[in-house]
Amino acid sequence: MDNLQKVLWQEVLTDLKSSVTKANFITLFQNTSLESFEEGIATVSAPSMMIIDMLQKRFSEELKEALEKHSGRAVSLLFIPKAPPSNTTQKDGPLFTEERQVKPFIGHLPRVRPDYTFQNFAVSGSNQLAFVSASTIAKNMGQIYNPFFIYGPVGVGKTHLMHAIANDVYQKNPERKIVCLTSEEFTNEVVDAIRTNDTARMKKKFRSSELLLIDDIQFIEGKEKVQEELFHTFNFLIDNGAQICLSSDRPPQEIKRLEARLSSRFAGGLTVDIGAPDLELKTAILGIKALKYGASLPNEVALYLAEQVQDTRSLEGLLLRVITQATTMDVPISLELAKKALGHMIEEKRTHLHADDVIATVCDYYQVKTTQLKGPKRDASLVKARQVCMYLLKTELDITLSEIGNLLGGRDHTTIMYGVEKIHALVENKARIHEDITGITKLLQR
Ligand code: ADP
Ligand code: MG
Repeated sequence: MDNLQKVLWQEVLTDLKSSVTKANFITLFQNTSLESFEEGIATVSAPSMMIIDMLQKRFSEELKEALEKHSGRAVSLLFIPKAPPSNTTQKDGPLFTEERQVKPFIGHLPRVRPDYTFQNFAVSGSNQLAFVSASTIAKNMGQIYNPFFIYGPVGVGKTHLMHAIANDVYQKNPERKIVCLTSEEFTNEVVDAIRTNDTARMKKKFRSSELLLIDDIQFIEGKEKVQEELFHTFNFLIDNGAQICLSSDRPPQEIKRLEARLSSRFAGGLTVDIGAPDLELKTAILGIKALKYGASLPNEVALYLAEQVQDTRSLEGLLLRVITQATTMDVPISLELAKKALGHMIEEKRTHLHADDVIATVCDYYQVKTTQLKGPKRDASLVKARQVCMYLLKTELDITLSEIGNLLGGRDHTTIMYGVEKIHALVENKARIHEDITGITKLLQR
């Protein structure tokens, strides 16, 4: 925290002190800090998930108002957990603290990424429930929510949270038996075991776990033998008080060709979804990633990068590109540099795509005919597909509104402008359409 930030936070706390009860103040606010305050995004840290949860549910309005009053600008709030005090700091000074988040686990938990921790997870409205639930699960393994089922579109942090559970449990007790794998790896193990006639070993491995995490469970669709094995493993583990965590791109009941007995098991614990991140969350994620690479990322650059992609997964790639460029040129990261580093890529995207591809892909995605899309009918589902198409033609190809109008059956440019703006607003606010756009964009990139 720099000094100005400290003063600002002190003023905010003084306000809150007079408006909340003393007990609330001491338990909830006393150990919070303002970690950063840039471009109107205030990142506030608190000592535990419980506290973050309460602050967010009960006091985010008050905090926001107080911050706005004292800073004189609009503020968005982001809560992150405070890194626990390191016991190495006293002995070795701050040199050691930088590595603390990563080092202890390396090489210990197979298939688990050591940097996917709760500490490295930025929390905001779209993922708050998932975050709080995951950290609660890690603290109360097998006791409250079993299984824990987390779902959401690509790149929203499902794998990150699953690994964070594993890392957290492992960090507190390295003796616990943790098995973490993707459903493809699970499938391979089952298939191999059957092929080599050695199912006993495989059964023992899974059934002796205290924490079993299977990522992207939707891929067991239609695989009967694998489902059967999972069903038995599942029952065995739950009966023995082990914790099961599953992730998927959709809720259990929407996984097709999944045995009913299994989907009802999946839904029998706690099911939470993660929505698409908004701009602020993407910016915060970039901040965390930059820290990991030891890069100093100005906020305007983070915002610029965050605006370029819908999908969180691409963020790290973009960031790396910028960092590499800065290192190669031996200059600090700036907006100018970032634009240069990405310019090439953005142009590349445009020259490859053709308007017909966009139209065909959208039609395919929404299961409508091109003639319907270009035609006059105004059924709700048709209008949606049409407007999404307008939006993508504008954002992906950057052609004029009149050109888009011509491509879509001779529509007026004001109609196109309305459609583009409508979807743009929806993308900002609604996860569902956002998912559609991400899905279609992915298809276009193939
Ligand atoms: P999913 O499994 O949902 O497709 P991932 O967990 O692989 O998504 O996340 C994609 C990338 O974005 C990872 O690098 C992950 O660390 C990062 N990420 C996603 N959400 C967050 C978050 N809230 N805080 C920090 N990093 C995040
Ligand atoms: Mg994943």
